[in-house]
Amino acid sequence: MARKFLIETFGCQMNYHDGERITGLLESEGYEPTTDEAAAELIVMNTCSVREKAVGKVRSRIGEILDAARERGDKEPMVAVTGCVAQQEGQKLVADGAPIHVVVGTQAVKQLPRLLDEARVTQKPRVDVNPYEDVSFPLGMAHDSDPVRAWVTIIEGCNEFCSFCVVPYTRGHERMRPVRDILAEVQRAADSGHIEVQLLGQIVNHYEAPDEDCDFAELLHRVHEVAGIQRIRFASPHPRHVSQQLIGVIRDLPKVAKHLHLPVQSGSNRILTAMRRRYTREIYLEQIAALRESIPSIALSTDMIVGFPGETAEDFDLSMDLVRQSQYHAMYSFKYSPRPNTLAVKRMPDDVTEREKTRRIVAIQELQAQIQTAIYESMVGQIESVIVESKSRRSDSDLAGRTSGNTVVNFAGDATLVGQMALVRITAASPNSLRGELVTHVD
Ligand code: SF4
Repeated sequence: MARKFLIETFGCQMNYHDGERITGLLESEGYEPTTDEAAAELIVMNTCSVREKAVGKVRSRIGEILDAARERGDKEPMVAVTGCVAQQEGQKLVADGAPIHVVVGTQAVKQLPRLLDEARVTQKPRVDVNPYEDVSFPLGMAHDSDPVRAWVTIIEGCNEFCSFCVVPYTRGHERMRPVRDILAEVQRAADSGHIEVQLLGQIVNHYEAPDEDCDFAELLHRVHEVAGIQRIRFASPHPRHVSQQLIGVIRDLPKVAKHLHLPVQSGSNRILTAMRRRYTREIYLEQIAALRESIPSIALSTDMIVGFPGETAEDFDLSMDLVRQSQYHAMYSFKYSPRPNTLAVKRMPDDVTEREKTRRIVAIQELQAQIQTAIYESMVGQIESVIVESKSRRSDSDLAGRTSGNTVVNFAGDATLVGQMALVRITAASPNSLRGELVTHVD
């Protein structure tokens, strides 16, 4: 009988995609996925270290699962920890005798089945956080948890070393996947019915193929040619690599979503320098102006950090001003908190009080809510092309999908439309989504 496993994934899209790969990998080794914790003989905690107290949270979640198994009178499942916490902590996770059988770093995922077997035989924890260079993953390993959108990694790791960010330490240096592997995976996604593809990388627009002359703009052209794919998204680009050529490709290729998530992190040049972002607010705002001039309908979104070490009231006002000028469709904002190994934690005292960080995040989120409401209200009456993703969470008779600009739209419709492109007239706006009515669907 197949061994059942349950995977719990935390964090970013890249981690969720890694979760799909781990699922495919384990399936190919004869394991069977389950969502029933009580039935699982193996629990995989696919972790994220971006959140505060990440290690403690992983340990306490493992404790909860094992306590529940004991209460049921079940045999305790094996536990494997993967993802960024595994990479960051390595041997430390098992040094105190914690009930963890396998720890696998972000570059060693393919070793998981072997390590599970070894841990079973030796009854000792197995740890592998080595920096394997190999970025190949056999086709078919990317188990697609979403029937509509397929995630396809094009770059692993990051070389930027922004001073607040743990990613270069947990995911290693930048490694590009060959074009042929990427296109094969996109083709496979299209063949299995996916109509949207999302290209993933820490700096997706830094792509340079290792196997032929192909940069990110050219890769978008190549992906655009794959029959069956109707929409292409990518996350996340870095402002340092937004070229006029890339703007032209987003404008000219109809399948490329008219949406750009362009993380800014701060509106103050002083703080941007301390963050090692290597652009200025002026350059960033020029890019936004160029994008809007070339593609007037483009929707922009961003990430913003408040309370970075040394951020004064004036620095924060510059962030507020940048948000006002940029008119984002969406913003993900965070209070700064120190992360292990980073330059900021080593050299920059976390000197903005928690109270002040809270005041700043509330202020910037209120500002964004006003901007977003005005943008969404201005869309009422427009007809948007929407990829229908699922039934709505709120109502059985409603469907939920996303516009090209990545805004959620709910509208009444039949579930057979899931996985299709539909034209939807926007009838009302709420703070985080739109309401619409079906005009027609596009086969
Ligand atoms: S670009 Fe900066 S913020 Fe983004 S993953 Fe790399 S180091 Fe982290």
